[in-house]
Amino acid sequence: MATTTPRMKITYATLSADNEELQSAFDAAVERVRGELGRSYPMLIGAEQRSGSEEFEDRSPIDSNIVVSRFPVGTRQDVRDAIAAARAAFPAWRNLGWRKRLELMRRAADLISERQFEYAALMSFEVGKNRLEALGDVEETADLLRYYSDGMEKANGFVQSMGSLSPAEHTRSILKPHGVWAVISPFNFPMALCGGPAAGALIAGNTVVIKPSSDAPLMAYKFCEALRDAGVEPGVFNLVTGPGEAVGAELEENQDIDGMVFTGSYEVGMRLYTGFTRDYPRPIITEMGGKNPSIVTASADLDEAAEGVMRSAFGYDGQKCSANSRVYVERSVARPFLDLLVEKAKGIRVGDPTRRESWMGPVINERALAKFTGAVAEARADGGRIEVGGEVLRDDATERGYFPMPTVVSGLPTSHRLFRDELFVPFIVVGEVDSLDEALNLSNATAYGLTAGIFSHDDEQIRRFLDTIQAGVVYVNRRAGATTGAWPGIQSFGGWKGSGSSGKSGLGPYYVQQFLREQSQTVMGQEPPPA
Ligand code: NAD
Repeated sequence: MATTTPRMKITYATLSADNEELQSAFDAAVERVRGELGRSYPMLIGAEQRSGSEEFEDRSPIDSNIVVSRFPVGTRQDVRDAIAAARAAFPAWRNLGWRKRLELMRRAADLISERQFEYAALMSFEVGKNRLEALGDVEETADLLRYYSDGMEKANGFVQSMGSLSPAEHTRSILKPHGVWAVISPFNFPMALCGGPAAGALIAGNTVVIKPSSDAPLMAYKFCEALRDAGVEPGVFNLVTGPGEAVGAELEENQDIDGMVFTGSYEVGMRLYTGFTRDYPRPIITEMGGKNPSIVTASADLDEAAEGVMRSAFGYDGQKCSANSRVYVERSVARPFLDLLVEKAKGIRVGDPTRRESWMGPVINERALAKFTGAVAEARADGGRIEVGGEVLRDDATERGYFPMPTVVSGLPTSHRLFRDELFVPFIVVGEVDSLDEALNLSNATAYGLTAGIFSHDDEQIRRFLDTIQAGVVYVNRRAGATTGAWPGIQSFGGWKGSGSSGKSGLGPYYVQQFLREQSQTVMGQEPPPA
């Protein structure tokens, strides 16, 4: 479908889009894709488009009457066939060489950018993102392909001449692909966190079997469609849909998988991390959850802090792994900070995210809504004060969707579990502290270590924060988002501790290397042949 190329680049730090052309292009895309909703799609197994004996419905969180797409309930056999197809495609893809692979991946990136509006409109229906968030997710996918390709090129395909101990010896280090990688992706960045990890594996020369979240299979399918249209051969990428317990479990247990990249919750990620390496070491990258703190000191610009916290706590309904879900504020400024945060939260428009005026849409499903209402009840029962929110929006337009209101809670002890457990809903707890050290200790006292932010205009405090905080992605005084809004080639994005296994972040310069293994090649008496 032909779409208008955007006139401005949308990233997660884009604050607003007053560009009329962009707004009407999105409106038009929403109308166009409405006609596509409800279709059945196949799994992609080698050159075969495979339907299953059973289908599941991918329903919109905006309105559960809307079926966005239907996909097969994949089985363990489908996974085995996909792995076999990926294995068969591996030699040709590897032997194509990195330069040719990059041409294809860059072409795919351009197709994704060209189709940005169509994909974003579908994403808005599928997972409830507002238009800027959805456009950002699609463009991030394209930029991930570009950025990882650029990295491969800069590193000359990871072939490096080494030293020699005698004139007759010629040695080089070369990074080689492993073979077949599983890519398991979450619902919340349904294109970027399917496409980015898959791109890392593919650019390195591996082939992939992708298993998307059952809440967002269509975006993964669309990513595969862009690869196909760019000319990537079938079998190089395979898509199997269906439940984690069957499809995911086969990927975990099957010994023909050489590596796995997972993005999702701590619970599933840790299970895979241990299960995948039960018999022998195989590379597994797990990017997991977060309980991301921000710290507001007495020297902060409180409006900047409240704006940054509001955007990171409530952007995409708090369903970003980087969402800010707890604040430690110095007691002397706690009340004015809370007042500003409440005022900003009250200004948020909640509603159908395909519409221009909505900034917050629904959470992904009924389970997520129940988590929200449960957290509100728990906070109330334990003496917390609901500063704003706490309800679920119910009107004619939202009654069949899952629309919690942005919620700020104060007054709970900082030892409460709501300061510790990831909820993944628009719910933030604010605790008062007496010092920066107390805030830093509390910030670091969780299993997670994904993102963190501070608002302070004291250089010494900023230095202490940067020296001490245990998180992979940190921000100082960021109005556009206290803890959120990373972009490829700008903020590397990965977790420490229980938030991530690799210490080499996505979106950053060390990512693609993780999909490769090193070989040292010493050739006596002559130069090795070209790699
Ligand atoms: P999830 O863990 O429920 O699911 C992630 C994927 O794992 C899905 O494809 C799911 O079907 C699959 N899965 C479920 N059970 C499985 C099993 N037994 N074996 C194999 N696969 C299985 O996560 P979600 O709800 O889709 O996403 C939200 C979570 O992801 C949050 O915790 C969030 O913080 C995290 N997340 C982390 C990052 C990051 O970069 N660190 C990014 C996005 C999301």
